[in-house]
Amino acid sequence: MLERQKEIIVEVGKYLFERGFTQLSGGNISLRDPETDLVAIKPSGAAYGLMKPEDIIVVDIDGNVMEGTLKPSIETGMHTGVYRNRPDINAVIHCHTPFVIAWSLKNEPYIPTVTVSQYVTNGAIKVAPLEGAGSQGLAKAAVDTLGADYAIGLKGHGLLACGPDMKWALEAALVTEDAAMIACICKAMGGETAFFDKELGEMEGFDALIRIADL
Ligand SMILES: [Zn+2]
Repeated sequence: MLERQKEIIVEVGKYLFERGFTQLSGGNISLRDPETDLVAIKPSGAAYGLMKPEDIIVVDIDGNVMEGTLKPSIETGMHTGVYRNRPDINAVIHCHTPFVIAWSLKNEPYIPTVTVSQYVTNGAIKVAPLEGAGSQGLAKAAVDTLGADYAIGLKGHGLLACGPDMKWALEAALVTEDAAMIACICKAMGGETAFFDKELGEMEGFDALIRIADL
């Protein structure tokens, strides 16, 4: 079942691992088949460098295992929660990127973005409150915070990115970690970071960069 989706999950896992977006087996990736609502998801504890398509688990949209011998990711509830709430989403990536985690620990509600990206949202990336890994609380906080956006930070934990397809979700993940890295560097340089909400998110490009860095 979902053979192509399993191959894509393995490929994207290796890519994120090689970019330092995750370590060993951390984080998780899934794809929904819009025809059947079945979800292919990374197994729990599988190292990205060794994971094979036959290791990928297939669950239904409520998280019940339909195929596979390994345990599904502990964050299966977060992935299926996004799919149940967002019929437009068919790909979800969760990973433990250092700059998103660092910025999220500042207790700010947003990660500022320097460009408005269709892959994320208009203006700023929301941060979900701290909840335990693999908990129902985290799944609910992530779904609620995500709303109609494509990426959020998870306080003290990492990021959640999603999209209509895996290319979109991957772009959202990359944009989100880039935004957090720029915000952390601006702050380290001594610039005051200004947080702008969706109204101020109308600003684009250099104007927004000046505002963020207070240059
Ligand atoms: Zn995690």
